[in-house]
Amino acid sequence: MSSPVLPSHGRVRPLGLAQVSLTGGFWHERQAVNASATLAHCESWMERLGWLANFDRVADGTTGPDRPGWPFSDSEVYKLMEALAWETARTGDQEAEAAFKRLTARVARAQDRDGYLNTCFGHGDQPPRYSDLEGGHELYNTGHLLQAAVARLRTHGEDDLVRLARRAADHVCRTFGPGGRAGICGHPEIEVGLAEFGRALGEERYVEQARLFLDRRGHGTLRDIPLGRAYFQDDLPIREARVWRGHAVRALYLTAAAVDVAVERGDDELLHAVERQWERSVARRTYITGGMGSRHQDEGFGEDWELPPDRAYCETCAGVASIMVSWRLLLATGDARYADLIERTLYNVVAASPSPDGRAFFYANPLHQRTPGRAADPDEVSPRAEGGTRAAWFDVSCCPTNVARTLASLHGYLATSDDDGLQLHQYAPCAIGAELPDGRRAAVEVETGYPRTGTVRVRITADATAPWTLTLRVPAWAAGATLTDEGRTREVAPGLAEVRRAFRAGDVVTLDLPVEPRFTWPDPRIDAVRGCVAVERGPEVLCAESRDLPGPAALDALVIDTRAGLKPGDDGALARALLPAHPGRAWPYLTHRADPAGDAGWIDLPLRPYRSWAQRGPTGMRVWLPVSTPHPEGE
Ligand SMILES: [Zn+2]
Repeated sequence: MSSPVLPSHGRVRPLGLAQVSLTGGFWHERQAVNASATLAHCESWMERLGWLANFDRVADGTTGPDRPGWPFSDSEVYKLMEALAWETARTGDQEAEAAFKRLTARVARAQDRDGYLNTCFGHGDQPPRYSDLEGGHELYNTGHLLQAAVARLRTHGEDDLVRLARRAADHVCRTFGPGGRAGICGHPEIEVGLAEFGRALGEERYVEQARLFLDRRGHGTLRDIPLGRAYFQDDLPIREARVWRGHAVRALYLTAAAVDVAVERGDDELLHAVERQWERSVARRTYITGGMGSRHQDEGFGEDWELPPDRAYCETCAGVASIMVSWRLLLATGDARYADLIERTLYNVVAASPSPDGRAFFYANPLHQRTPGRAADPDEVSPRAEGGTRAAWFDVSCCPTNVARTLASLHGYLATSDDDGLQLHQYAPCAIGAELPDGRRAAVEVETGYPRTGTVRVRITADATAPWTLTLRVPAWAAGATLTDEGRTREVAPGLAEVRRAFRAGDVVTLDLPVEPRFTWPDPRIDAVRGCVAVERGPEVLCAESRDLPGPAALDALVIDTRAGLKPGDDGALARALLPAHPGRAWPYLTHRADPAGDAGWIDLPLRPYRSWAQRGPTGMRVWLPVSTPHPEGE
């Protein structure tokens, strides 16, 4: 069966990618753009920058001090290969298949006879192998190679890439296994790669090597660095940590591996430790978008409640990694809260990154842009992770390929099955078919305009020989949702709603989710946004853009009146807002509450989906909107 994650057991099981297909709507369109534009875009940038030629140079013995790219550039090639493998299976796309084989041939030539494979270390004048575990990313690269091999193995079967990945994994186990060097990689990823590769091949020793890496971490195994050991989670053993900290992508890749190892080993202590870390980090260190990472300095989590909107880092990759963690926890436990966070992160981080044409990306995803950015040159490598506009490529370009592999396999995250039925976690037009025990077949088609509209119609497409259970997730925000089955409508609470019966083809179960725009208030301990409110519509966070206002200064000063409620807008909502003007002040701190020098009267402020901000051109933007208190008209 093909799926990015296939635990040997869990509360629910992933469906194979062949059992689910998106048939229309927002995500289907994103998959199509990913296939038609993003994959080739990534390959051409890596060719142009010499990241692919790095493999040729190792093979030809022509490496030199002028090697282009960071030590982790190999991983971008592997993430692209993973995306190509999923895409080939999704559509049978022959161009994707040809690209995959082309890349495999170049990678294969660079592998050393003993299985070691890396273009930055160990050849010619390069530093020796594993001479910089803190910053060298060698094992990180290998982890991504293994994930690409898993995708190929599960969609195609054994081939050259799978064989070379096996040699690379064996080299890792020989070098770092029991009796070998007691090291770990500064950037977790090898762990999650090894665990899944072990599952895919049925080779327990790879899972065991992942466990070894996990348990070695947190004991000061790596050399200390100025950012501190928490940066790469070597400050505390994962079983003892209470919350995610340090570099967000590292923390989350590590956690994903911990779930894998916990599940394979029946290690409930480890699983519960991770669940507690998820709970606390989501409760105190996560943005309303689902974004994670409050600090630019170390691309890391901040302290509890440290969630500044303008300095939010929220790297796209951290969004992808957060989904990796929550998906694994969902499979292990069946708990709807994990699917809730996946949905929030998909719509407001992953979908925010790529431009509509699939050829430019956000790396950081702040919630407040004070001044409009400069339109990025589509022919230029952006040195910056920030900047307020999507860029074609980055100096560190981890995010585009991460988006690509996620979108190519996205249909795998919609639904699961268990012995008694199907569970729908994400709503999009799709067709799903699964075989249940006792010869029962559960097959449905979903019709919906979600998230624009809240009606989700699930049409049964196969007669059942015996009853089975259809489970529908009711998102946490969807108070007042209703479910209609056999002509009867009932209210369903957030969580999981179930219908169990012997379905007949043509039966329809309808879920109605209230997707009217709503105000969302922050915990006052998130001091950076105290006194502000956000507007959400269904799973989408909305934002204001300065291009809809007289200028960025209006965005700085605006206040909204929540008592006036919200009205439907073209593509979101309208809020009643005032744009006060303030006089120039030599010192912006006063002995009394600052009075505006006038305003232009109340306006209807357009609020649009955050994920599409800056698509109409450079603009200021804010998600959190100051509330007018006391109400100006009452003063
Ligand atoms: Zn990234």
